[in-house]
Amino acid sequence: MNLIEKDNAYIWHPFTQAHTASKRTVITKGQGAYLFDDAGKSYIDLISSWWVTLHGHAHPSIADAIAAQAHKLEQVIFTDFTHQPATELAEALIVRLGAPFTKVFFSDNGSTAVEIALKMAYQSFYNQGQTRSRFIGFEGGYHGDTFGAMSAGVGSRFFTPFEPLCFSVDTLPYPATHINDEDVAHKEVRALDALDAHLQAHAGDTVALIIEPLIQGAGGMRMCRATFLDACITRCHAAGVLVIFDEVMTGFGRTGSLFAFHQCTHKPDIICLSKGLTAGFLPLSVTISSQDVFDAFLSDSFDTAFAHGHSFTANPLGCVAALASLELFFANDVLAHVAVLNVIHQEWMQRFAEQGFGNSPRVTGAVAALNLISGEEGYSAAIGKEIKKKAWEMGMLLRPLGDALYLLPPLCITAEELHGAYRAIDKMLTKIYKI
Ligand SMILES: *Cc1c(COP(=O)(O)O)cnc(C)c1O
Repeated sequence: MNLIEKDNAYIWHPFTQAHTASKRTVITKGQGAYLFDDAGKSYIDLISSWWVTLHGHAHPSIADAIAAQAHKLEQVIFTDFTHQPATELAEALIVRLGAPFTKVFFSDNGSTAVEIALKMAYQSFYNQGQTRSRFIGFEGGYHGDTFGAMSAGVGSRFFTPFEPLCFSVDTLPYPATHINDEDVAHKEVRALDALDAHLQAHAGDTVALIIEPLIQGAGGMRMCRATFLDACITRCHAAGVLVIFDEVMTGFGRTGSLFAFHQCTHKPDIICLSKGLTAGFLPLSVTISSQDVFDAFLSDSFDTAFAHGHSFTANPLGCVAALASLELFFANDVLAHVAVLNVIHQEWMQRFAEQGFGNSPRVTGAVAALNLISGEEGYSAAIGKEIKKKAWEMGMLLRPLGDALYLLPPLCITAEELHGAYRAIDKMLTKIYKI
């Protein structure tokens, strides 16, 4: 059997209907913002391979750090033991995050980081003699594919078959905004009124509010303002409700600051990080809490301990990849480069809207999106599939979320590469819309 035949014979792919899936491409190499197939053709990766790649594919200094660590210590049980990669990384993260974060809990993917945040928040009340049972989420919110994460992300509407098995989460309207949005204040008032009403009725029974700060990823790169996040935090804290920021996608520079919450005045209590944490090299995640949350687990009894852990908790290879990535992040002044990418995104997305390709152009940091004109709206829109296919033929990895065309390139993409990609997309859209 050749490689594709073996793939068809043995592999079950994620988010894929195998019965109708188009032919898969074999990728043999990655470098910078590019992927290469087995025929040597290059593709510019405009979605950071599912929002993980930061400094470029197969970046040598991260690859070297992983190789060196693999020769020293690949893994150790993390209950009674610790190691330098984990302690160095935890310190680096706490220093960079700033107040109120003091404790890092390791796991290995974004969904799990969210499960841990939900369980941590829930048990912090339970340990204080309060059994609260409600969580607050948002329409369009997505937090991963495990049951707690699906429950929190029920507003994404991706989980229809499983909804009867999910715990119930109260879903609030989300004030999605875009460039020159005249209605944003009104949308925010509507969402905050719903939050106020909810807290008035249920504050004493509510554990936490969970939100993807500044950008809802899987929901279609829907963006909100930092002032809205601040207003949510203030209200929740006044009502004694915890706030969880799911920064699995937004962390590590994507939004223009190291973390999205750095653009807020008020701070959440728990934060989830994964995806860009290892620059896209290895599965690793962290759930980071304030000292107050941590303190609620302290007593002389194991009963109040956080009885949660995974086989690969704080995997040393993942930790050194994350440390090497942070080093590159500051050595290369990545945030300054994101500001350059931001301007290019704005210029092109506004132009696309003016040309009549779509509406609601929006840009935050190095992420840009536009809702394409289409017969259908939402995730099942056929226009997304057409663009994905045409882009791939042209040497670009694009994967619209239904009618939402978005670019979320590795932060190492150069200004010229990004302009070049936009020129190609412009050509493609002009043809599709016959403008
Ligand atoms: C991708 C994502 C997750 C889930 O992460 P996985 O590593 O795919 O489990 C959770 N939250 C957000 C905001 C995400 O974008």
